[in-house]
Amino acid sequence: MKNIAVIGAGTMGNGIAHTFAQFNYTVNLIDISESSLEKGMQTISRNLDRMVAKEKISEADKIQTLQNITTFTAIKKGVVDVDLVIEAATENEILKIKIFKELDTFCTEKTILATNTSSISITQIAAATSRPEKVIGMHFMNPVPVMKLVEIIRGYNTSDTVMQTIVALSKKIHKIPVAVNDYPGFVANRILMPMINESIETLYNGVAGVLEIDTVMKLGMAHPMGPLQLADFIGLDVCLSILNVMYDGFKNPKYAPCPLLVNMVTAGKLGVKSGEGFYDYSESRKAEKVATLFS
Ligand code: NAD
Repeated sequence: MKNIAVIGAGTMGNGIAHTFAQFNYTVNLIDISESSLEKGMQTISRNLDRMVAKEKISEADKIQTLQNITTFTAIKKGVVDVDLVIEAATENEILKIKIFKELDTFCTEKTILATNTSSISITQIAAATSRPEKVIGMHFMNPVPVMKLVEIIRGYNTSDTVMQTIVALSKKIHKIPVAVNDYPGFVANRILMPMINESIETLYNGVAGVLEIDTVMKLGMAHPMGPLQLADFIGLDVCLSILNVMYDGFKNPKYAPCPLLVNMVTAGKLGVKSGEGFYDYSESRKAEKVATLFS
């Protein structure tokens, strides 16, 4: 396996492209938006600079890594002759199914098709293709160049050979793969999201304030950040959407999103990306102060 295509140059896509390119894979980075590609390449370059400054890689490694990446705006051109496609486009079921239908048409028979989805069923995405045994989940964590874990999700029809190939590949880029089956939330979000939801419920029920809840979890459980602050970083809309997928998928009320979370998303309070969530990120940058106060 040498040639990889990554679809989507956003937060996750540029991190995935960076990581493979750093380990000398040839990467085709594809996005419908020219400006996302430009921003993605700038982010990769900045992150590589940081690694050079920390003496984790040399200046020559940085140049080589950037040379290993070619950008495309058309899926058709970018997936010619690749061994693996990793789709990291916007989290939207209809969009992903459309992309996988295109990939199935444009990619050669040998190409493995992976998705970095946080919550959409791998089995359902695979069903849109004529090669469900070659469709798999590769759930990287943010920021990809730093975080070691990759959840490798076996769809209902994913073959053993494809599982083994992707597990081995993940090790080659110095990640730690964990194989899981395809059920809503996989493992990471199935455990994380109920904890975040419960912390919002605790706030909603007036048991304690934002700072108190986060402090208990940081200092009491040695979590690097509190669950409410983490929710702000993930995006409250993303948390709500993952909880809804689990609620719909399991038909179990324990995954029902807290009404406060629903209200905040409806009101446009999405966390860091909108400037306000449980903390205010606008001018006062309270969240960062909180982070340093208790660290
Ligand atoms: P993002 O919004 O930062 O980036 C998505 C990119 O996809 C954008 O640049 C957009 O232009 C591009 N795109 C949209 N439609 C496209 C198409 N048809 N063809 C090519 N590119 C297209 O999103 P993100 O946070 O990087 O998330 C990407 C995926 O990774 C999602 O499935 C998400 O659930 C998953 N994920 C995200 C995180 C996270 O922390 N952000 C963590 C794990 C997994």
